[in-house]
Amino acid sequence: MGEFQVLRPRGLEEALQWLAEGGSRTAVLAGGTDLFPQQRAGHHAPYLLDLWPVEELRFLEEGADGLRLGPLLTMREVADSPLVRDVAHALAQAALSVGSPQIRNRATLGGNLGRASPAADACTALVALGARLELSSFQGRREVAAADFLVGPGKTLLRADELITAITLPGVVVAGGAGGQSRGAGGQRLVGSSFQKVGRRKAVTLAVASAAARVALDRSTGRVVQVSAAAGAVAPRTLPLEDVAGVLLGVEPTPAALREAARMGAAQARPIDDVRSSAAYREAVLAVLIERALEESLRDALDIERGAAS
Ligand SMILES: Cc1cc2nc3c(=O)[nH]c(=O)nc-3n(C[C@H](O)[C@H](O)[C@H](O)COP(=O)(O)OP(=O)(O)OC[C@H]3O[C@@H](n4cnc5c(N)ncnc54)[C@H](O)[C@@H]3O)c2cc1C
Repeated sequence: MGEFQVLRPRGLEEALQWLAEGGSRTAVLAGGTDLFPQQRAGHHAPYLLDLWPVEELRFLEEGADGLRLGPLLTMREVADSPLVRDVAHALAQAALSVGSPQIRNRATLGGNLGRASPAADACTALVALGARLELSSFQGRREVAAADFLVGPGKTLLRADELITAITLPGVVVAGGAGGQSRGAGGQRLVGSSFQKVGRRKAVTLAVASAAARVALDRSTGRVVQVSAAAGAVAPRTLPLEDVAGVLLGVEPTPAALREAARMGAAQARPIDDVRSSAAYREAVLAVLIERALEESLRDALDIERGAAS
């Protein structure tokens, strides 16, 4: 690893200022679980901007626009959060599937997005959950959808002077009020989500394929009123799977409908061949993962309903 200097900002404003001054000569460091292996492989910048002390990037709060998560939250914090498990089950599951306990203690949500690996587990869940990202520079802020942010392997919409400063999951509202036990979309809709992953072994493994889904049901008709899904590790970037909604919107989520939606989603993904797997295996396994993600999303939605009733 070549020589580099570590910059430790006292807060977000200083971090953004240093980034504006350093530009592409400054690499941003969060947990370092992706950045340090890359640096060892020879991709190193002369300055490392260490975000770890920037407490303004470590938060989890419910706002009017949904659940807001700080990019410095670790996978462990996300997986352990009762609030995330309750209202964004898929994200908690994805965080729990990252690496080992040691990795999860350092790996952050912002780093998973910033690395933009097609196999990044949290990215699959965030795209399915319709996450929006706040990108900040010393000049100002903008907001982009996570699905648009992830452009290709290691490629994002982030400019050299920008940081991811917040991740919002829209439409996530606490039904029972602050501190209440029953959570979900509230009102007429029941919402649930799920993340599923297959790797070459059960743990500490990158995905060969992953899928996440979020399903909203109308409480009175039992029909699907909103559905979104995403696939990871099957294409150069995390893929939103719109064809799943094409099958399920407005219908009752019968087992046959879920299977057909999963088949359409896997076909839309048109998986790739690479060192970890063949395209044919990926398409077959992705259909199974999408179907399981849809089934588990429905169970999650009905669990929230049962929680609200008790
Ligand atoms: C042994 C091992 C196992 C792993 N297993 C998995 C796995 O199962 N699933 C999985 O998804 N990943 C896995 N990873 C990859 C890695 O742990 C995750 O991608 C992690 O979320 C990266 O977060 P980090 O905080 O360590 O990022 P860092 O390494 O600090 O940064 C990664 C990239 O994101 C950028 N970045 C970080 N924060 C920000 C920000 N706020 N704004 C802008 N850019 C930012 C950095 O500049 C860098 O380019 C594994 C890694 C290892 C070493």
